[in-house]
Amino acid sequence: DTALYAVKRAGRGRYEYYSTVMDTRAREAELRQAVANDELVVYFQPAVALATGEIRGVEALVRWNHPARGLLGPGEFIDLAEETGAVVPLGAWVLRAACREAAGWRAESPGAEALRLSVNLSPKQVAQADLVQTVEAILTETGFPADRLTLEITESVILQPDPLTIGRLEALRDLGIELAVDDFGTGYSALSYLRRLPVTILKIDRSFVTGIADDAEARSVCEAVVHLGEAFRMTVVAEGIETPDQAAALIDMGCGVGQGFYFYRPLPPPEATAVIRRQFSAVVGS
Ligand code: C2E
Ligand code: MG
Ligand code: MG
Ligand code: MG
Repeated sequence: DTALYAVKRAGRGRYEYYSTVMDTRAREAELRQAVANDELVVYFQPAVALATGEIRGVEALVRWNHPARGLLGPGEFIDLAEETGAVVPLGAWVLRAACREAAGWRAESPGAEALRLSVNLSPKQVAQADLVQTVEAILTETGFPADRLTLEITESVILQPDPLTIGRLEALRDLGIELAVDDFGTGYSALSYLRRLPVTILKIDRSFVTGIADDAEARSVCEAVVHLGEAFRMTVVAEGIETPDQAAALIDMGCGVGQGFYFYRPLPPPEATAVIRRQFSAVVGS
């Protein structure tokens, strides 16, 4: 490759090239070690019924409690995890931790039994031959029921699904798991593919929700996704709601469920537990 050759010829460039390679390997090793050492933490962002603010579910969002760098968001390590394959053990760790926590909420409050748990699945995870067995084993181990679990896949997964991928997604659906397309609208999902896959939830990407009040195009995309959801009998969830105007516009369009800082930020486990207890304590004994 010419660019690489040019870099190798320059002395300083050579050093930088090798140092970048080393850096990636070292960072991958550090990340895999972090998974093994339980340095990861799962935060939970509630998803609410827009009309009432009632919590319908929570999405698990990974954080890395780095011993030197502090709390890191997925933006700082998830791409590296995906490129190196470290996302496979990382993703299993997140699923296990999230199911365990949510199983605890269910055991505490009968009302919490209706809560859904969403967990993000990366393209690399979806490509694993043993994906279904891994998910099943974690559900068995934690006692979290398959029919309360949603797995979020990205548009890139559904763009050109091979038969093996479709088979795995169908097997997850057959277990009772729901599948959502995350960040919907940002990629190029062909509608024909969407119909062929066992997907039942579309999550409107935050970029469209952000512009809903004052950008006609963003508004049209939101409307189009809501209509698509109606036509395909899929649930539509809006992401990244930050203002009451955005929530109101989504309600007007017929979008029932949403997530965003206006309602709740992603919460560390003790705060998520407190919020869930607060909602469901009214149900107990009434
Ligand atoms: P996502 O799955 O689309 O998650 C939503 C992201 O938007 C989260 O960022 C959340 O904190 C943020 N968010 C939610 N509401 C608002 C809002 O009102 N305003 C703004 N500005 N942001 C909002 P986070 O936690 O940094 O995660 C970023 C992405 O990293 C996720 O996007 C997901 O694609 C990925 N990710 C997170 N956890 C995991 C994981 O366990 N596995 C995999 N494979 N990916 C993950
Ligand atoms: Mg997501
Ligand atoms: Mg999303
Ligand atoms: Mg997103």
